[in-house]
Amino acid sequence: MSAFMGEFSQKTSAMYYPWQHPQWQMLDRLLEIDRFPHALLLCGPAFIGKQHFASALAARLLCEKPLAGFACGRCKQCLLLAAKSHPDLLWVGPEEEGKAIRIDPIRELGQFVSKTALQGGRKVAVISPAESMNLNAANALLKNLEEPTAGTCVILVSHQLSRLPATVRSRCRLLTFAVPPLAEVESWLAQVRGRKGDVSELLGYADGRPLLALRLLESDLLENRRTFERLLDEVAAGELNPLVAAEKCLASPPGMAIDWLYSRVAAQVRTAGATGAMALRFRFLDKLVRVKSRLLGSANPNVSLLWEELLMDWQRLSR
Ligand SMILES: [Zn+2]
Repeated sequence: MSAFMGEFSQKTSAMYYPWQHPQWQMLDRLLEIDRFPHALLLCGPAFIGKQHFASALAARLLCEKPLAGFACGRCKQCLLLAAKSHPDLLWVGPEEEGKAIRIDPIRELGQFVSKTALQGGRKVAVISPAESMNLNAANALLKNLEEPTAGTCVILVSHQLSRLPATVRSRCRLLTFAVPPLAEVESWLAQVRGRKGDVSELLGYADGRPLLALRLLESDLLENRRTFERLLDEVAAGELNPLVAAEKCLASPPGMAIDWLYSRVAAQVRTAGATGAMALRFRFLDKLVRVKSRLLGSANPNVSLLWEELLMDWQRLSR
């Protein structure tokens, strides 16, 4: 079972993020009136804490004596969770980040939901990110969503709802999460970082997504991004040769740097209005999406060559 549990396997946290209060309250009400859905789909942009929410929810569902609507952290179930060895929680993710969830772990999930709970309470399975399921996996899941066993909840987490088959979506109760309001993210960041500072640049780079902002802060990604943005400026102004710039791009995490370039082009589209270059820019955005999926796919593309091509396009578009 453990082979298929991703990075977030059995991560426990009783508390959700402050901006997730409405969603939590809604589920709390459903629990109170005994109408909790057997299949729940948490959707919204990445890096706003949906996996964390799923983890807090799983803890809440498994806890024997929830306190004020949260997992107590003290009962036998909570201790099993804290030890990452609760037999009635299954966390399914891709074997490697960015790869597909294949049929085997979903078959395993099928066996998990059909058994009786080993601890006598509920059973919770989390699939994240759900859109990573390949078609066979998604089809195998359908049967489990159609014939739920009592006391079982399957929680799907999706960053890209449109990539999830409609047949799966329609069998789940949808719960949507949005990028939280800026002020809320700012005060949360100040709290977790222990100080208030100017975070507007950071939040701009993170598109307002709190966990991405935190990740940028905690790694050298912020500096990395600044360097990358400068490089794009220089290429756009014709001060730096795209071929030279391509070599420098190799220092940035490729999937992420493509996203950064994407944001720049998207910003051009927003500010430039309907000019002749509009169609070219949209075509370039499509190309970036394709390049990113090639980078994350199983083939090993020549990254340096890809950057040369992208930066030449970028220079042409920026003229
Ligand atoms: Zn408990």
